[in-house]
Amino acid sequence: MSEIQRVGVIGAGQMGGGIAQVAAVSGFATKVYDASSDALARCRALHEKLLARAVEKGRMSQEDAEAAKGRIQYVDDASGGLDALSDSDVVIEAIVEDAEVKRDLFARLSKMFTGDQILATNTSSISITEIAAATDCPERVIGMHFFNPVPVMKLVEVIKGLATSEDTTERTIALATKMGKTPVPANDRAGFVSNRVLMPMINEAFYAWMEGVAEPEHIDEIMKLGCNHPMGPLRLADFIGLDTCVHIMDVLADGLNDERYRACPLLKQLVAAGRLGDKSGRGVYEHAR
Ligand code: NAD
Repeated sequence: MSEIQRVGVIGAGQMGGGIAQVAAVSGFATKVYDASSDALARCRALHEKLLARAVEKGRMSQEDAEAAKGRIQYVDDASGGLDALSDSDVVIEAIVEDAEVKRDLFARLSKMFTGDQILATNTSSISITEIAAATDCPERVIGMHFFNPVPVMKLVEVIKGLATSEDTTERTIALATKMGKTPVPANDRAGFVSNRVLMPMINEAFYAWMEGVAEPEHIDEIMKLGCNHPMGPLRLADFIGLDTCVHIMDVLADGLNDERYRACPLLKQLVAAGRLGDKSGRGVYEHAR
């Protein structure tokens, strides 16, 4: 089995940016591509800021931070597009949580990568088997589910699709470990483990708010103090992105064939109003950007 040296990341948003940073810090030659040049510029600026902070706090030497920055290449459509990632040994997709968009991308990736490269998706909830079915190499498609913020959170949920090979799984586990993460296996059911358990709780918090059970601050305070959660569910929803929460609830409802997983109307209304959480400056709460 060939060793992974070059990592390609598709999507430079909250998750893709974090994955690219961790890959580069872990010594991999890293390319990150985004269809939006603005998203790519924000990703680069955030890397500068986070690596400078790591140096300031004594968590990393100036030399290591410079070396990590030197290992990341930022790619948009003007600088080569997706094709610029074609020398990657693994690509990790972190674009929008939409099954059709991901399937289109993976169909294209399977034509681009015809060797033993791994095609990984950071999907929060979409079936790996369904994404893999859009390719002609389902044995090389796997779920590599990182957590937000990626540089801090240790877990990677590793999800095999129906046809994912042992070789792909072993190399993915080795990659996650080399990135300083703890890989834990989960089976390919909608939401896997993390979001199957977490998202209905977040959704219920929106219902509690909508029905006037308590104000958002109080719902969060109760869950923090009463259940020892580090962050209340509504604050966490802002952090994840309210649009992503709606997408995940849709996937749970469709995938588990159960209407009780439908997104709360208030959550959907906030998304319709453009209140997406931290990334848009306002969600349940106001956020400084
Ligand atoms: P985001 O909106 O912050 O970033 C998505 C990025 O993908 C954007 O910059 C967008 O321009 C880009 N993009 C969209 N379509 C593209 C395409 N076809 N080609 C190239 N770039 C494209 O979203 P995010 O929060 O980073 O989520 C990304 C993925 O990670 C989703 O599948 C999500 O479910 C998953 N995820 C999110 C979290 C979280 O807490 N936010 C946690 C784990 C997994």
